Amino acid sequence: MIGFLNSIYSVECVNCNQLFSFKWQNCLCDECIESIQKSKGLVYCRSCGAGVFNCQRCLKQRFYKDIQVFTSYSGAIKELIHEYKLNRRKRLSKILAEKIKDDITDFVKQKEIEMILYIPLHKKVEKERGFNHLYEVLKLIFPSYMIFNGLKKIKNTKLQAQLQKEEREKNLKGAFSLEKSIKAENILVFDDVLTTGSTLMEIYKTLRKSGYNGNIYGYIITKS
Ligand SMILES: [Zn+2]
Ligand SMILES: [Zn+2]
Repeated sequence: MIGFLNSIYSVECVNCNQLFSFKWQNCLCDECIESIQKSKGLVYCRSCGAGVFNCQRCLKQRFYKDIQVFTSYSGAIKELIHEYKLNRRKRLSKILAEKIKDDITDFVKQKEIEMILYIPLHKKVEKERGFNHLYEVLKLIFPSYMIFNGLKKIKNTKLQAQLQKEEREKNLKGAFSLEKSIKAENILVFDDVLTTGSTLMEIYKTLRKSGYNGNIYGYIITKS
């Protein structure tokens, strides 16, 4: 009988395929959630997000004042982001928020960040998904007055994952617009996956073109 009940309430972990008993979420088992940790020594440029340490472009000009990445895009967190975002399992925002909470809060305090921006989705995409996955995580960590919602995506771009670096930049050109002014000296741009840094750079350009001249920081959950 117990075996029978277990098989009803057990689900397969999307990362390790082991069966675990269903709790409030049916995506990852406890061990896999536990395995998501901050990683050190990730290789990327802290000024533009490109995948190198000493980035040539940033020798002459600094873009972001600093960019922090929580961990690498692999294993359990990769599956988690996939399920959360693409399979629209909204309650998984809680696991992501719990994982990054201390790290992002420390960064925000240290850099005296007053306002947090997240990468917007085009309204068509947001309507299909039902939520902005980044906003859902932020609101579990920060008070609403710290979360800025005046950044919009005005161009419905192709999926970045299918494109090469140059195509990515072209694809995103003019994709965002700042629709409210920002009254903060230090701001943070929040995203979930850092690949070539194209999104960060396009956001940077959008902010500067709109006349924002304060310090811009970046915080990304994972680096692919
Ligand atoms: Zn597992
Ligand atoms: Zn750089």
